[in-house]
Amino acid sequence: MARGRVAVASRPATDPVAATAAITEPCPDCPRCPRLVDYRHRNRAAEPGWHNAPVASFVAPGVRGANRTGRPFTGDYAGDLLYATLLETGFARGEYRADPADGLTLVDARITNAVRCVPPQNKPTPAEINTCRDFLTATIQAMPRLRAILVLGRIAHESTLAALGLRRAAFPFRHGASHDLPDQSPGGLTLHCSYHCSRYNTQTRRLTPEMFRTVVQQARDALE
Ligand code: SF4
Repeated sequence: MARGRVAVASRPATDPVAATAAITEPCPDCPRCPRLVDYRHRNRAAEPGWHNAPVASFVAPGVRGANRTGRPFTGDYAGDLLYATLLETGFARGEYRADPADGLTLVDARITNAVRCVPPQNKPTPAEINTCRDFLTATIQAMPRLRAILVLGRIAHESTLAALGLRRAAFPFRHGASHDLPDQSPGGLTLHCSYHCSRYNTQTRRLTPEMFRTVVQQARDALE
């Protein structure tokens, strides 16, 4: 996703979040990116009832979405298209009501983000992307049955390749592209690429619901 979000699809043997939380999740006051820590503190002062902390996997941090509600895309414009598509393609179960208590669950999938804290103007710096990559790398490594990664936007694409130790030039970003990645797991690992399902991309028709559904279904089909 243009703001560095990564959807990962797998067949988890156990609950991956519970099994790996100590390794993959930053603490609520993670101090590693000073600019984002400052932004976090300002958001806490302005909106003390919001989440205002690094967003755990399953969640992506929009300032009024996950940064407010604490659950992935929940409350974000992008969540409407993302969850509708995940429900339609069998990656989610339940009903999405833009509420963390709506009971929606993911199926064979996990959502994480390349940068866990919401950045000003929704634009992380290269240094922040690099710093937070430790958590993305740990998240990927903690999923031994991972078979497909769907990256949403170029930042997610490039950070995922870096997390996997692969060269960008060998696996270029293009909406709808899929790349079989070498030597990542015995069962194979495929990288699927999509434009981010942001308000801007959907309102400008850079990404239509049909285009997005096609890519997500492609990832679903690769698991079947
Ligand atoms: S973006 Fe990641 S590394 Fe930086 S402060 Fe937030 S959780 Fe920590």
